[in-house]
Amino acid sequence: MRIITDEGCTGYSHPGHPERPERIFATRQRLRTQTELPITWSQSGPCDDAAILRAHTTEHLARLSKLEDFDEDTPSYPNLPAYARASVGAALAALKAARAGETVFSLMRPPGHHATRNRAMGFCLFNNVAIAARYIQRHHKLPKVLIVDWDVHHGNGTQAVFDDDPGVFYFSVHQHPFYPGTGTADERGAGKAEGTKLNVPLPAGSGDTEYRRAFVEQLVPAADRFQPDFVLVSAGFDAHADDTLGGMRVTTQCYGDLTRIVRQIADRHCQGRLVSVLEGGYGLDGLAASVEAHLRVLLD
Ligand code: ZN
Repeated sequence: MRIITDEGCTGYSHPGHPERPERIFATRQRLRTQTELPITWSQSGPCDDAAILRAHTTEHLARLSKLEDFDEDTPSYPNLPAYARASVGAALAALKAARAGETVFSLMRPPGHHATRNRAMGFCLFNNVAIAARYIQRHHKLPKVLIVDWDVHHGNGTQAVFDDDPGVFYFSVHQHPFYPGTGTADERGAGKAEGTKLNVPLPAGSGDTEYRRAFVEQLVPAADRFQPDFVLVSAGFDAHADDTLGGMRVTTQCYGDLTRIVRQIADRHCQGRLVSVLEGGYGLDGLAASVEAHLRVLLD
């Protein structure tokens, strides 16, 4: 098991902002005390413009590079483009390790799943997972990518990037109504991609039972029909009962159960090829414990 993380993601912070470097520090600290876990720690890798431009417009890249196009949720910091690039670079480094047969988790920030082709939003600058999916399709020559997004928020950016791409199956379970407002069950993909986007909106207060049911009854049969060549996890942990932003009641143990289901999909269809990328998760203890539960199942 390899974890990609480095200081390229912890050098920026904004007073009072929930998406803070302590998220990474607390998670690393917890994992480092689990000395029996066979974890190899690696640093982020390179990220060139060509990779970013597979999921974003040149205008978006240019605006971010000039520190423009930010909002209250997604404030600007000095050197932010470099941090955002490091987060993408970690996802790409994870793919490289996965190609060599490793299971990999990217423990970086900023998260990515709200970033659309042309817009930074919801703490997200570049869409790490969307860029990774495009990279898999192009460089690994694996046409069918399954993205499983269990962040408490709907990954509007990821869905939008692949809305008309039948090669990417996007599954999201999320709180609804909630930020960013998208992710209703009738959003199923456009044109020839219809049916390759599967949204399970759940009311606030939902917990383990609803999440397990969504995975077993909706994700598994859909994934078995799609038969992915690669599985990416948009691993946000803000549906945890202790989270400070989300209103859900998912337990630490349930994240292990959801991981098992996703891992079985990867084992069944694509020789276990799976990369997991951190998205949200804002209660430090719940986040760190949930990441540990997630990794323990990936390590099994
Ligand atoms: Zn989130």
